Amino acid sequence: MDCALKKRKCPICGREFPWENNPYRPFCSRECKLVDLYNWLSEKYRMPTLDKREEQKEIKE
Ligand SMILES: [Zn+2]
Repeated sequence: MDCALKKRKCPICGREFPWENNPYRPFCSRECKLVDLYNWLSEKYRMPTLDKREEQKEIKE
């Protein structure tokens, strides 16, 4: 693993940013953190609906 002093790549925009003292880790900025949160929320709302439907089907059958 990288040492904490090294730079990390932001998983959202791919830019390298200093890891240490970064309040938005593991993202480079507030914007990227918000983008990830948005992606996470939209996936979270989308996927359980599908999963539940499949699970209920199996239980009923
Ligand atoms: Zn970024």
